[in-house]
Amino acid sequence: MSQTPDVQLGGLYGDRILEHYRNPHNRQALADPDLEAHEFNPFCGDRVDLQLKLDGESRVLGISAASEGCSIIQASTSMLSDMMNGKTLEEIAGLASAFRSMMDGKEIPPESMATLGELEALQVVRQYPVRIKCALLPWTALEVAMQEYGSRAG
Ligand code: ZN
Repeated sequence: MSQTPDVQLGGLYGDRILEHYRNPHNRQALADPDLEAHEFNPFCGDRVDLQLKLDGESRVLGISAASEGCSIIQASTSMLSDMMNGKTLEEIAGLASAFRSMMDGKEIPPESMATLGELEALQVVRQYPVRIKCALLPWTALEVAMQEYGSRAG
């Protein structure tokens, strides 16, 4: 069974994206999550469901990341999920903001770029401006969930 991607992304970055799309990571649901996030983008039918388990404070112990829709959201969600373990919510917020700047085509300092790791590959999506939202959707979900969690914790 072969899946045909809905955008043509070449090169090393394109290969990374396809790899995550074909074999997304961390899809198993968590039994007892501390944070949950859901977002939907009707433009291409993208849907993302995230769950995080924390260590009692703000460090991530486990993540579940499931998405449906186009190749970009599935790759972005899978890449995001690989980077969450062991990070604090504050570090994740910094990562989200660096990722958003990269996708917006802004200059970002090399030390922020270094924290993005594999997410760097998603910058090829900038060739398809309408799809940038697909790459950002799991991060938007995460930011909304962290805000809710922050206001709950008081
Ligand atoms: Zn999409």
